[in-house]
Amino acid sequence: MTPGQVTLVGAGPGDPELLTLKAAKAIAAASVILVDDLVGDGVLAHARPGARITYVGKRGGCKSTPQATIEQLMLEAVRAGENVVRLKGGDPFIFGRGGEEVESLRRAGIEPVVVNGITAGLAALTTLGAPLTHRDRAHGVVFATGHPQKNGPGVDWARLGAAVGELRLTLVIYMGISSAPSIQAGLLAALPEGTPVAVIERASLPAQRQCVTTLGGLLDSLRAQGLGSPAIMVVGDVVRGVRAALAEAARATETG
Ligand code: SAH
Repeated sequence: MTPGQVTLVGAGPGDPELLTLKAAKAIAAASVILVDDLVGDGVLAHARPGARITYVGKRGGCKSTPQATIEQLMLEAVRAGENVVRLKGGDPFIFGRGGEEVESLRRAGIEPVVVNGITAGLAALTTLGAPLTHRDRAHGVVFATGHPQKNGPGVDWARLGAAVGELRLTLVIYMGISSAPSIQAGLLAALPEGTPVAVIERASLPAQRQCVTTLGGLLDSLRAQGLGSPAIMVVGDVVRGVRAALAEAARATETG
């Protein structure tokens, strides 16, 4: 049996129109599709009739499939000659364990193709009309995870805060909601309370919600607005662009 192929495809942040043409083509050509929980439903409209679609995420409150099982499913399908698409939210190589899946396939002698997607950390602030870099406000961007590996050391937020403050970098935090208290406490050791923060839940999806707050007010704002996962937090002066954009929009509505 000739082995099939595996393509790791980035599904983008949720809005199906943010899918790349390459991703849409790969999905349309797949006979087997393994789907993560943060993939927007509209993305699967590209699948061909009869494609075998398996949800391996935590949909509907079910437990997620263990990583080893997902890797096993991919291997079995590709060895059976299937054209397998592994559909992951955002970009396959930004968090979400795409790197581990590629390594595991390589160990089994299979070289996957990887198709980039728009990562949530990039899309989130754009939906509020502000850039992640700006000549006057941020010289670079750091993508960090708020969800440390089990028993791992995790991010040292005080040190990272000091670095982003000193070097004028935008800090984009994935998976940060459940550790928001320790993230806030760590960052406040290095950054002023008034540092602007935006939290964007379900960016680019119809159910998107967000708040623009400060580092000092972060927990109160999350609580007051009931924001939860999946969400991106953006910390830094670029968030002032959101305020400007929102004020601009409000003025336009008033005068419009
Ligand atoms: N590979 C993905 C990230 C996977 S980690 C990517 O590139 O986007 C999962 C985390 O991504 C979530 O906890 C959340 O922090 C973020 N995320 C994914 N989709 C999101 C969305 N539509 N809005 C806000 N955050 C999102």
